[in-house]
Amino acid sequence: MPSSKPSWPLPALLLAGLGVGALAGWLVGGHVTAGIAMAAIAEVVVLLIHIHRSAPATTTVDASAPRKSRLLASHLRDLRATARQWPDAVVILDEEQRIRWFNRAAETLLGLRRTTDRGTQWPDRMAGTELARCLDPDVAELLHEIAAPGQADSLLSIDLLPFGDRQQLLLARDVSHINRLEQIRRDFVANVSHELRTPLTVIHGYLELLDPEDVPELAPVLTEMRAQSRRMGQIVEDLLTLSRLETQHDVTDERVPMAALLAIVHKEALALSQGRHQIVLEATAALDLLGSPRDLHSALSNLVSNAVRYTPAGGSITIRWQRTPEGALYSVSDTGFGIPAAHLARLTERFYRVSSSRSRETGGTGLGLSIVKHVLNLHQARLQIDSAPGVGSTFVCHFGRARLLPPEHAQA
Ligand code: ADP
Repeated sequence: MPSSKPSWPLPALLLAGLGVGALAGWLVGGHVTAGIAMAAIAEVVVLLIHIHRSAPATTTVDASAPRKSRLLASHLRDLRATARQWPDAVVILDEEQRIRWFNRAAETLLGLRRTTDRGTQWPDRMAGTELARCLDPDVAELLHEIAAPGQADSLLSIDLLPFGDRQQLLLARDVSHINRLEQIRRDFVANVSHELRTPLTVIHGYLELLDPEDVPELAPVLTEMRAQSRRMGQIVEDLLTLSRLETQHDVTDERVPMAALLAIVHKEALALSQGRHQIVLEATAALDLLGSPRDLHSALSNLVSNAVRYTPAGGSITIRWQRTPEGALYSVSDTGFGIPAAHLARLTERFYRVSSSRSRETGGTGLGLSIVKHVLNLHQARLQIDSAPGVGSTFVCHFGRARLLPPEHAQA
């Protein structure tokens, strides 16, 4: 008797799978299409395996076996053809990291050969390339912008999806064009900022020469023009700093004496606050940092300047430097306006502001936290933000042990 099972669950499941892929892609940084594509590939592979496994069993028990097996074989061919033509490289690896199957794009991008590479161990086949260690769970950060072994000048982004019994689906996407566009964007911002620097300096210089007392009727206009030209100058400087940080892959490993740096940051906060806040420094860790003194100064003082600017008069600010089990942390806590939870994830984006008017009033450029994030990334440190509206905020920079040094006098 033919099966009375309704046929809608499979399409519904496939659709739901694509939906989950889209959602996952969106959550991992807005890559909705990439999420859908990966889910689609995973579905194709799972269906292939399912059809492959179920085909022989069906043929032995069902009276309509020849027709069904023809149908299954045709589905199998279609699915294989789809996976083969897929523009991203797809490789199926078995539980012993042997290459079981791959598509055409894997031949072009990864340099795999049908005649020789099936059944070979992935780490052996990829020896000498950046991909050799990509199955190692500890090297997840290596999975982006990897040189394509099969295609010169191409960069790959790798995704690994576990399935079945310790098998893996490896997906390699060519991201060279995205990288090129990103490079064009970076160059454009850097060039525009650079070109704006000189005219702005000239305008600012002339505005400084004009004395509002000589033209009292224009005094308010002059004051506003001076403030705006200063702000534009600061935006250009911050954009140039960001461009430099974005193109840097590492920092100079210099000793950054923390006692001195914390004292400077504290002094800057007091000067900016002009007595409107209570500002306390609690440095309990006798540790220095290894990195770029200029960039670390910029990041740490940005957080203090934000605390002063977003805390109403009468509030308090605490700057901390202390040891943690993983290394050390630098934190700035304030009793200021606080930030609603919905904004927290986007705060380090360029020009992202919770309140544009408040940021402008206090002389903000909207680039400070973006600079902080880049500086911390270059020092393998991470930023944690805790905040509650009306209560206050705490910005914490976590530094790993590799970036810590005992202070110089302690070594003698
Ligand atoms: P801005 O120059 O506007 O301060 P930032 O990148 O430094 O730019 O900060 C981004 C936004 O994060 C700010 O506009 C502000 O809304 C919010 N923010 C940053 N620090 C604090 C803080 N300590 N308290 C409240 N809001 C903050």
